[in-house]
Amino acid sequence: MNDSLTEELRQLNAELDGLWLLRKMGFTDEAMYQEENIIRVFCPIHKDLVRKSLIVDLEKKEFSCQYAQCDAHAGGLLVELYARFMDIELGQVREHLFGEEAPDKELIQKADALIQEGKLYEALPLLEKALKISPRNCITRCKLAALYLELGKRQQGIQEYFRAAEDYGVLGELQKTLGIYNILIILSPVDIKVHKRLAYLYSRLGECHEAVEQLKWVVNKLLQDNQLKKAMEECQEMIALDPTEPSSHQILARVLIKSGQMVEGVAALELSGNLYLKRREKTEAEKVAREALRYVPNSPTLQDLLARARASEESEIAKDSAEMAKEAEFADWVKDLEESISVAAPVQKPDTTEISATDRRVLLCKKSLKGIDKEHLVSLHKHLVNMFSEVKQTYEGGLLEKWELKIVKEFYKAFCIALEQYKKEQGITTNF
Ligand SMILES: [Zn+2]
Repeated sequence: MNDSLTEELRQLNAELDGLWLLRKMGFTDEAMYQEENIIRVFCPIHKDLVRKSLIVDLEKKEFSCQYAQCDAHAGGLLVELYARFMDIELGQVREHLFGEEAPDKELIQKADALIQEGKLYEALPLLEKALKISPRNCITRCKLAALYLELGKRQQGIQEYFRAAEDYGVLGELQKTLGIYNILIILSPVDIKVHKRLAYLYSRLGECHEAVEQLKWVVNKLLQDNQLKKAMEECQEMIALDPTEPSSHQILARVLIKSGQMVEGVAALELSGNLYLKRREKTEAEKVAREALRYVPNSPTLQDLLARARASEESEIAKDSAEMAKEAEFADWVKDLEESISVAAPVQKPDTTEISATDRRVLLCKKSLKGIDKEHLVSLHKHLVNMFSEVKQTYEGGLLEKWELKIVKEFYKAFCIALEQYKKEQGITTNF
């Protein structure tokens, strides 16, 4: 505990209600786990997203983090937690909690107004200053990130979005976190950190299939880098999320075989093939069976798998109608985009989100797609389709300022255009 705590601060601390304070800090009710007088949350100090290691004692009005390496491990009074979280002096806590107006409000309003007038460079220092005053304001952080992007400062934009996603994640704002990671995927499609975080987030949301899709990126990258042990761990995580997903076992097989564990690798391929067959995806099942037979040509069970795969019928398109509608809507939209590109004047109209094929954002996105193989392009495309409705919902739900929404939308469009162009250049004609 801090010796510099004045009597007044101790008094303030005694009056505080821990639950109220945590809400004031932005924790959602879902993010708080209460057991009698103890509340547990993800620690915002060391940004833990795995276990809720920060403990708030409602009776003693104290906190501590269970993680020994964390700065908050030694703990202290609730006023100290708040000051540390908000990055303010202890003497500012009362004003910050009970003061009438947020000190950063005026700066943000001014910045918004300047951006509306197109004075982006003038708005930048105001938003930076506002964030310095209230570093926990995720809304301001996202605005700053969008402004960085618009000014061509991509790395800084990515960095701020990352931080905002982490902060939202700790607070339990999962949909908002997801919205930001979706932007990050567009900005940095091969960044393993983004895919890994996204996988973890999807599993928190109970969307195992999406989580597995994201983990595949991580495993493939680890495989490329020859980090076999780590790749194996990720595979096991993938399989734990959904043991019936055939492609997870297929990737595991790749890792096992590369590690020299041939028998286990072939067994994983066989399991994968059987799972594909169960789903009546015969083409995939056949492919896997053939691959396994290359290693063990005389295996009767593999030959049987191959025979069953060849004898069975491919299933009717397994997609449900909702999914198909989503695909169709997305395809229409992309087509519209392409048409508008070919006729669009090269001059930027300030109020539309039309962008040309040679727009710097398109070129930037194309650069970031370089080297992605077909398998991963399919995965990206699927993700974009899934994101499409989310983008519309979260971004158009009034959460973002108009100018901010425009920046995000334009980047999204630029990415879609870049992806289409890249596909054409690579001769990938599959309609996915
Ligand atoms: Zn901690």
